[in-house]
Amino acid sequence: MHALVVSDLHIDAAHPAIGRQFIDFLQGEARKASALYVLGDLFEAWIGDDDTDPHRLEVIDALKALSGHGVELYVMAGNRDFLYGRGFERATGSTLLTDPTVVTRFGRSVLLTHGDALCTDDAPYQRLRAMVRDPQWQQRFLALPRSTRALMAGAARSGSQSHTAKQASMLMDVNADTVDTVFRMAGVTTLLHGHTHRMGTHTLSIDGKAHTRIVTGDWSTAASVAIWDADGIRLETRPREPLRA
Ligand code: MN
Repeated sequence: MHALVVSDLHIDAAHPAIGRQFIDFLQGEARKASALYVLGDLFEAWIGDDDTDPHRLEVIDALKALSGHGVELYVMAGNRDFLYGRGFERATGSTLLTDPTVVTRFGRSVLLTHGDALCTDDAPYQRLRAMVRDPQWQQRFLALPRSTRALMAGAARSGSQSHTAKQASMLMDVNADTVDTVFRMAGVTTLLHGHTHRMGTHTLSIDGKAHTRIVTGDWSTAASVAIWDADGIRLETRPREPLRA
């Protein structure tokens, strides 16, 4: 058996081909896995579990069908979709994972994280993250009317896009010291994360011991999938078929 790990799909009605490919993935390849982990930014935005966006609801239904099929489903929040709650878990049959979480499968303990908390060179972003991850802030936000939340999410997204465009590309990647610290704190030798969209496997030495940092890619032009089995974790991409009419 094997588990699958994906992240950074950024599903949005503006790019329906991504949602379509993910639904095909859920109805096909994912059914052969014992578990699917989604490491954040599944959706470009999530304004609360009362979300009525039809494109997102179609994906929710496909996730529910997968978990109903007996595949364990684990979802971690990203920096775009950090407002999942019990309603999301019920609607999808998933279990929400706190960020970070150590998961042991196939004899390997892996630290799973979305990855934005590792990008400590981006100080303004880390301040924003601390604010929106505060449970009191989230409670106040979720108490607002849905239309207000949708407007605020749109504004936050444009703000984030202009911030990202202005930052030096190096600052948007993980900070090496933070990665070392996180490895030491977790006591594991494998770290798996997304967020940076820089798919790859990096080997580094910490305290004379080999450690591996694996980064899942995004789904902007093709699907990025990590396959975790008894042989380890490998990254693969699945080409995107043209959108069916
Ligand atoms: Mn992200």
